[in-house]
Amino acid sequence: MRIVNPATEEVVAEVEAADAAEVDRAVERARRAAPAWRAVAPGDRARLLRRFADLVGEHAEELALLEVAAAGHTIGNARWEAGNVRDVLHYYAGAPERLFGRQIPVPGGVDITFAEPLGVVGVIVPWNFPMVIMMWGTAPALAAGNTVIVKPAEQTPLTAARLAELAVTAGLPEGVLQVLPGAGEVAGARLVEHPHVNKIVFTGSTEVGKLIAARAAATVKRLTLELGGKNANIVFADADVAKAAAAAPYAVFDNSGQDCCARSRVLVQREVHDEFLAALTEAVKGVRVGDPLDPATEMGPLISAGHRERVAAFVTGTPYALGTCPAGPGYWYPPTVLLSEERDRAFTEEVFGPVVSVLPFDDEADAVRIANDTRYGLSGSIWTRDVGRALRVARAVDAGNLSVNSNASVRYWTPFGGFKESGLGRELGPDALSAFTDTKNVFLATD
Ligand code: NAD
Repeated sequence: MRIVNPATEEVVAEVEAADAAEVDRAVERARRAAPAWRAVAPGDRARLLRRFADLVGEHAEELALLEVAAAGHTIGNARWEAGNVRDVLHYYAGAPERLFGRQIPVPGGVDITFAEPLGVVGVIVPWNFPMVIMMWGTAPALAAGNTVIVKPAEQTPLTAARLAELAVTAGLPEGVLQVLPGAGEVAGARLVEHPHVNKIVFTGSTEVGKLIAARAAATVKRLTLELGGKNANIVFADADVAKAAAAAPYAVFDNSGQDCCARSRVLVQREVHDEFLAALTEAVKGVRVGDPLDPATEMGPLISAGHRERVAAFVTGTPYALGTCPAGPGYWYPPTVLLSEERDRAFTEEVFGPVVSVLPFDDEADAVRIANDTRYGLSGSIWTRDVGRALRVARAVDAGNLSVNSNASVRYWTPFGGFKESGLGRELGPDALSAFTDTKNVFLATD
């Protein structure tokens, strides 16, 4: 597989793709490593994860630069991502010593539950946030006593491979964390069908997620699915409209819109629609698009030429406003604002590029109706100064992650995941370990 820098079109690495036989060998190694790994004393497993986290911290700049080179992320974002990987590892390093069961009152004896590791976990990762998404699945899986095989996206295996090396340096035994670059339909598909892989964590498109769910059914594999999104940013007339408009571009153009949480549908109450649009246009023109290595850059290129074509196909007619982007080599696309109708493809489908659609609404009920008129339900924002309305709308919008007067989606302390066709299960937060364990109930007769 040829790894190409999306900002320069230069080849940065050649990586060998694993075939199905290589996956089978990796699964065998992971299976062999599992009994010893689950038997590591909780305090020692915690210490190993902390050491892994510290090493990630020490190599944060190197990891960030790899992500810039292969994924075209801005250096500011990539540094944040390396820090997030470190923090997620530290957070779940606290888990092995707190993996409690319960004691349940029953007649005739004592009843206790255990949170048992599942065995071998496959983590299939997309190209848009390679190292963070890998670690959201991997860190809690390891903490709970599972061994892990990561299948990175074809375009972005470099940080995953480096993280696996750091894990070994930290002292994680061979076979506990393996990374297998390879094609989705080959290496990914084999992980999904393999009878000795006990769980799949998949992040990617809803279409592939459905296929994986169907195939995983054959072995009743546990599944976490983090899929697409078409998220609404709802701005009420009583909001701080200037603040909402200034923030809106970054809620959709961050990572060039290649973000499942991108607020790509902006719904604006009719009374302030024109005021909002004027402020939004100003803000969009100010988005700095260019060299990802310049710390001042706010948006980089798209991942590939093919993806740029896909994004461009959503923009029919003349955009309402356009930002700027470099010419020359690189898969650049300018920040784009569309005034949409409810049935427009750009308004209903996930573009996964820097394209935002703006639409007016009449009242609260209308806003909720439009926000929910989608098969997705991942994230969204609500801008209002009315606390009651904020809570009413937050409860009424069918999505897993909502923010009020903010566009933030992800905090590693809190659960993350989708309603409807945006996914199944939750990652991050205090409960993620339950997705990597099965409950075992044991009754001891005392009679
Ligand atoms: P994709 O579905 O094409 O690929 C994702 C991963 O699955 C890649 O590693 C790929 O090689 C692998 N894959 C492909 N076919 C497979 C198969 N048949 N069996 C097993 N594995 C297979 O997605 P993408 O284009 O890399 O990523 C973009 C999508 O990811 C967007 O739809 C986006 O919304 C979604 N996404 C969701 C979240 C979330 O948390 N909900 C986060 C990031 C991205």
